[in-house]
Amino acid sequence: MNILNNVDLSAANTLRLPCQAQRFTAPRTLSALRDVLGQARREGWAVTLLGGGSNVLLPEKLPGLVVRPALHQWWLSGHQDDQNAQEDDVFAHVGAGVNWHALVMATAARGLWGIENLALIPGSCGAAPVQNIGAYGVELADVLHAVQVMELATGRVDWLSAEECAFGYRDSLFKGELAGGVVITQLVLRLSRTPAPKLGYGDIAARLPSFPTPLAVAEAVCAIRREKLPDPHVLANAGSFFKNPLVNDEQVTQLLRQYPAMPHFPQGGGKTKLAAGWLIDQCGLKGMRDGAFGVHQHQALVLVHFGGGDRHGLMKTANYIAAQVEARFGVLLEPEPRLINP
Ligand SMILES: Cc1cc2nc3c(=O)[nH]c(=O)nc-3n(C[C@H](O)[C@H](O)[C@H](O)COP(=O)(O)OP(=O)(O)OC[C@H]3O[C@@H](n4cnc5c(N)ncnc54)[C@H](O)[C@@H]3O)c2cc1C
Repeated sequence: MNILNNVDLSAANTLRLPCQAQRFTAPRTLSALRDVLGQARREGWAVTLLGGGSNVLLPEKLPGLVVRPALHQWWLSGHQDDQNAQEDDVFAHVGAGVNWHALVMATAARGLWGIENLALIPGSCGAAPVQNIGAYGVELADVLHAVQVMELATGRVDWLSAEECAFGYRDSLFKGELAGGVVITQLVLRLSRTPAPKLGYGDIAARLPSFPTPLAVAEAVCAIRREKLPDPHVLANAGSFFKNPLVNDEQVTQLLRQYPAMPHFPQGGGKTKLAAGWLIDQCGLKGMRDGAFGVHQHQALVLVHFGGGDRHGLMKTANYIAAQVEARFGVLLEPEPRLINP
């Protein structure tokens, strides 16, 4: 087992927050993963799971063992034990360590529909179910068939159906009941050869011919995202820093009296989703800078790290922004990235 000591993780998270892991390992097989979890149990090391580091807020010192699953295999199969499977369905079996964007482009290039709108989301496939990644009108939950997990406490491997994952908006069982309890080791996605473009979001349709291929859709999504979002390799960030808040319909009615142009998206059940970026922008915070951190000049939802800061500084900036929004709109903003605590 290859366990490294005192590993610098500042380049292993897209916010480039300084972080020193006491121990780090990247197992390539299920049995290597089981072995290393067993050793962590015997030694009493706390285990932190890490993928591409694009949705985490890391502390400066991380004791215990950081495990980054390096299960890089993926393959396609024609059918699966599923009563609802259609003739044109193709199932993608994907190891946790596969890069999500690479998978999107590879399946789209094979003419398979399902995840093309999720192109250019950074990170690993293993982390994709944790916050039920979503973009341009599609969520992972729309295509997820099953998830394979390994229990940290026992090394036992199990399968969960999509229903069992309790997916919600940027939410799942892996953020709730199973948080810190399992490693996601494999996903099974249900893709299809039957054309099913979802072009109703943003200006994707305007960039495409009448009958686009999945690859053309994925490329259009990449082009839009490159125009709108800063590349973390150039300017450190974690994508959307705040979740779009869900508020009561009554509060929305009151806010609309004062702000008739406020974007709002009724979700049913008396709840409406607001656009966190719009709320931040209205507070005049787009482009603001607070030491090492700031709000991106074109995208109010993205906090950026100019270098030299740490998590404490980032949270100070984030709390300031949330306080401004709460004072003006009475709406609470919640960070989207996962706070990793020692
Ligand atoms: C520029 C940019 C754009 C983004 N755009 C979007 C977007 O459009 N939509 C969207 O939904 N997200 C977006 N994100 C957020 C992020 O890309 C996703 O949440 C992604 O799934 C995180 O993957 P990761 O491998 O980097 O996870 P990490 O950041 O490494 O980990 C995230 C969480 O998952 C846990 N975890 C990681 N691997 C596993 C595993 N194998 N088993 C169990 N738990 C695990 C970690 O412990 C942590 O709690 C964006 C981020 C950036 C930087």
